[in-house]
Amino acid sequence: MSTTVKAYAAPSATEPLAPATIERRDVGPRDVRIDIKFAGICHSDIHTARSEWGPTTYPIVVGHEIAGIVAEVGPEVTMFTVGDRVGVGCMVDSCGECQYCARGEEQFCVQGMTGTYAGIGKDGQPTQGGYAQSIVVTERFVVRIPDGLELDVAAPLLCAGITTYSPLHHWNAGPGKKVAIVGLGGLGHVAVKIAHAMGAEVTVLSQSLKKQEDGLRLGADAYFATADPDTFTSLASSFDLIINTVSAPVDVDAYLSLLAVDGTLVNVGAPEKPLSLNVFSLLVKRRSYAGSPIGGIRETQEMLDFCAEHGIGAEIETIPADKINEAYDRVVNSDVRYRFVIDAATFA
Ligand code: NAP
Ligand code: ZN
Repeated sequence: MSTTVKAYAAPSATEPLAPATIERRDVGPRDVRIDIKFAGICHSDIHTARSEWGPTTYPIVVGHEIAGIVAEVGPEVTMFTVGDRVGVGCMVDSCGECQYCARGEEQFCVQGMTGTYAGIGKDGQPTQGGYAQSIVVTERFVVRIPDGLELDVAAPLLCAGITTYSPLHHWNAGPGKKVAIVGLGGLGHVAVKIAHAMGAEVTVLSQSLKKQEDGLRLGADAYFATADPDTFTSLASSFDLIINTVSAPVDVDAYLSLLAVDGTLVNVGAPEKPLSLNVFSLLVKRRSYAGSPIGGIRETQEMLDFCAEHGIGAEIETIPADKINEAYDRVVNSDVRYRFVIDAATFA
């Protein structure tokens, strides 16, 4: 038994996304059905829809920045009631028992967390994501969107927000810390807002100065173009923490050279090809090179509460479903200001 809902799916790696219908499982004892209102477009959706991270199983409905309203709850659900404003991010399940799940870091589940799309769901079927009218999710993977946040600007926080909040928090961004954000796209612009709200001194490193005014308005203290070689000499050895959000390969050594002693470069960007580095870039100043995947459910709720408290939402361009393919091209061309959000009413 299941429910048919309208969605937008990628039929293959090379064809445009097109209208489709998919099945959602019936609401189980601990499930909630969410009427999706808005779905953000993350660059990871594009990497997956185009098989850039390895072969994807088609057709696939991507989308893991979901904001909506609870429409139905199972009999054993305790955390939500019909009408609640909620979100779903990149995960919809995990074992719930390992040491990582126990401490609320489901992204590290030893059995592997279940992705919101391209995973295997409770019903044994491939999971399908948020470019759809509704979704059924176990309540443990649903978070509450605080009243102070509109659903449209909150949707991108479910991936872009948590993916940047988590490493900023883990590596102690705050007063007295010099933080650089590489790439002012979906993740980057939210990272600037969050790092600024945490009290850090924030620098944007973007390909050009085209978006400088925006970057400063979002909370950056300084803004430099990475196309200008002077940037790398004038900023040498100056940052405690650099968050690289770039979706394409970058010169890792060049960014490592910008770290002070004991500084850390964290890659959250996930390009399809491997990156290389010269170990001397690390050892001369005891620098670290790290990565970070999304964040746990408890931390996702903490991030949403933090954003509501500090008035942080994404800067969005809302589009109807039939503009998704155009939006994909603009994201790939770094022409996004700063997140596309699909109005889910247009899937109907
Ligand atoms: P996005 O909106 O496309 O932003 C990426 C930004 O990187 C662009 O706006 C651009 O900023 C810069 N950029 C793009 N191509 C570049 C190039 N060839 N050289 C230099 N800079 C370039 O993408 P997003 O949604 O923020 O996602 C960014 C990356 O993070 C993707 O690879 C995505 O898959 C990954 N991601 C990882 C996680 C995780 O858990 N770690 C979660 C979500 C997303 P400027 O124009 O300012 O230079
Ligand atoms: Zn994402």
